[in-house]
Amino acid sequence: MSSDSKPIVLVTRQLPSQAQARLESLSDELTIRQHKSTSPISRQDLLDGIKGADGLICLLSEKIDSELLEAAGPRLKVVSTVSVGYDHVDTAALKAHGTRLGYTPDVLTDATADTTVLLALMASRLAKRSLEIVTSGTGGGFSLSTGLGTQFTKKTLGIVGFGRIGAATTQRLMPFGFSRVLYTASRAHPERAQPFKAEHVSLPTLLAHSDLVCICCPLNQQTEGMFDAKAFAAMKPSAILVNTARGAIVNQDDLLAALDRGELAHAALDVTVPEPLPKGHPLVRHPNCTILPHIGSATEETRNAMGNMAITNMMAGVFAEQMTAEVEL
Ligand code: NAP
Repeated sequence: MSSDSKPIVLVTRQLPSQAQARLESLSDELTIRQHKSTSPISRQDLLDGIKGADGLICLLSEKIDSELLEAAGPRLKVVSTVSVGYDHVDTAALKAHGTRLGYTPDVLTDATADTTVLLALMASRLAKRSLEIVTSGTGGGFSLSTGLGTQFTKKTLGIVGFGRIGAATTQRLMPFGFSRVLYTASRAHPERAQPFKAEHVSLPTLLAHSDLVCICCPLNQQTEGMFDAKAFAAMKPSAILVNTARGAIVNQDDLLAALDRGELAHAALDVTVPEPLPKGHPLVRHPNCTILPHIGSATEETRNAMGNMAITNMMAGVFAEQMTAEVEL
């Protein structure tokens, strides 16, 4: 195929090594424009690079809106995001433009559920304080009565968003001894809930009864700011909150106030607004808040699988074939 007639694809980031090698092997079929960096592409470079493109492989850091679609022009057939969440995409604008949307469900479920468990254990066993004691050299060694965390035996687990990651998180957490599981979702999921005898309840009921609350739902108009002052006031003072979904589901000012008031015991966050939070941010310094830098799906295996699926979706979009995973717009 001559370079003039080859479809043009913009890729906004360096992909994980195996996926990157596969992308580069497609250069006979595609003209590949790539922001070959591990840092986000600037908005201007995105708007310049998308001009005349047939396909886009992007990340959640890129806002996909009408401005971008106008800059792209009529040839843009597919946006393929390397994520399962697509809150960064204006789906109505995409539909109006006649552009398809690919995403990467399932392949990141295990890694993200693992991270949710990691944060739950870090919070319950006060890992932040313990690590600080060791790194600062201000204590340490066995103590019978200080640095005591809590455990999950006979406690109640609350899962907000009982989809792929919510169910995988529940499956991983059950062996820690939880005696009851509550969940919220858009609707009841009796089959998914059955192995855990999980009960579909309202959010206020879940918050009032859960010892560990894990946020596993998408960011959308209903969930943005869902964890606000009212929600924190409804939680048990001993409860732990884990968020591995999206930062904007939690109102961070309200969270800080609630932690200061002792309305919950600890918040453990993989996602924040912005990312990263500034070094001196009060949540970063707060003894009862543990923050990871959005590593939910960050394993070699998962990131390569995500990159590969995004490439497959992109190729299917560019050549009008069936995608592995397409969002119904
Ligand atoms: P999923 O299978 O679609 O599950 C989402 C669940 O949330 C569904 O059970 C859905 O209910 C429920 N839900 C939707 N709106 C809700 C609401 N207003 N209140 C309560 N529950 C609601 O998605 P997934 O694959 O598990 O991924 C979930 C989210 O995790 C993604 O959207 C993404 O933002 C985030 N994520 C983060 C990372 C990370 O790196 N930290 C990695 C992967 C994913 P129904 O089942 O009734 O529709």
